[in-house]
Amino acid sequence: MLLAALVTACGCTQNGPLVRELFAMDTYMRFSVYGLTDGEAADEAADAVVRLSGLLDAVDSRSEVYALDHGVGLPVPVSPETFDVIEGALGLSNRLGSAFELTVRPVLTAWGFTEGEHRIPSDAELAALIENVDDGRVGLDAERNTVTLPEGMQIDLGAVAKGYAADEAARILREGGAKAALLDLGSSTILAFGSKPDGTKWKIAVKDPENADGVAGIIETDGGAVSTSGGYERYFTGPDGQVYWHIIDPRTGRPAKTGILSVTVLTDDAMTGDALSTALFVMGPQAAEEYYRENGGIDYIMLMEDGSIVMTAGAEGVFTPYGSRAGAKVSVVGSGADG
Ligand code: AMP
Ligand code: MG
Repeated sequence: MLLAALVTACGCTQNGPLVRELFAMDTYMRFSVYGLTDGEAADEAADAVVRLSGLLDAVDSRSEVYALDHGVGLPVPVSPETFDVIEGALGLSNRLGSAFELTVRPVLTAWGFTEGEHRIPSDAELAALIENVDDGRVGLDAERNTVTLPEGMQIDLGAVAKGYAADEAARILREGGAKAALLDLGSSTILAFGSKPDGTKWKIAVKDPENADGVAGIIETDGGAVSTSGGYERYFTGPDGQVYWHIIDPRTGRPAKTGILSVTVLTDDAMTGDALSTALFVMGPQAAEEYYRENGGIDYIMLMEDGSIVMTAGAEGVFTPYGSRAGAKVSVVGSGADG
């Protein structure tokens, strides 16, 4: 199973990186690793991500999250990894407030985003479902490694799983002796660490949310996580001609529409970046700016529906608009209390 998921085992060039390509979490991923003497750590990192994918996929009836989502209100024992992901994600959820809720899953299902046919739920259906969206009601027992969801509640780790997996892969690679790596978990989650042997910066493309093959900008960075959330990643067009996407505002149960097409967040660790990109997308430009001013510690780039770009002062130094966004109007959000 694990081996079957490895698409390419090598692809190394002289002095170039060791490359691993794999399919996990519904995505093609590519790890380019520098400074390893053999492929052991790269294999281990790839296997860990495939394993996490199997544990956390809420659609797969063999996964631990599936068992949890069908636990009918009882404590469900999970592996230490799954417990760690959920504990970390709930911590982020607590910090991010009502824009970010792992327990939004029944709402995603109602829209057909989890496994069914896409449809537009009625107001009454959504109102009933959001009653049960509340991450504060998820029970964790660290001694027994169990998680308890009240009956009727389900969680979805789609907003953080790739970020957690990227951090885990980086940890394994560093411990295995890697000096540097670019971990691309399907372009929405990218983590770079260490210095490239040629001394150049890591270059990371930000997708054009209005053109699947296009690039809207380039980030040049010394390292860190780059996480992007966008409606364009999963959506459908309703019979009313409106576009409905997979990032939901838990307060309304409807796709979050705030004028943002995509948010790219720069952070040190990928899990925080992954949660934040989803949360800032839901918050919208104003609340995101308030979050940034109060908390700092991140930078972000928002590609807006009106063609403009909103970004933090720190992002301005590393992001160069490109293609359809070259020459776009840019608003820079000043730094907050912590600079
Ligand atoms: P991302 O691509 O990281 O922004 O994650 C999007 C995924 O997170 C969706 O496909 C859902 O599985 C899940 N999701 C959607 N809305 C929310 C939300 N408000 N809070 C947490 N997870 C969400
Ligand atoms: Mg996310």
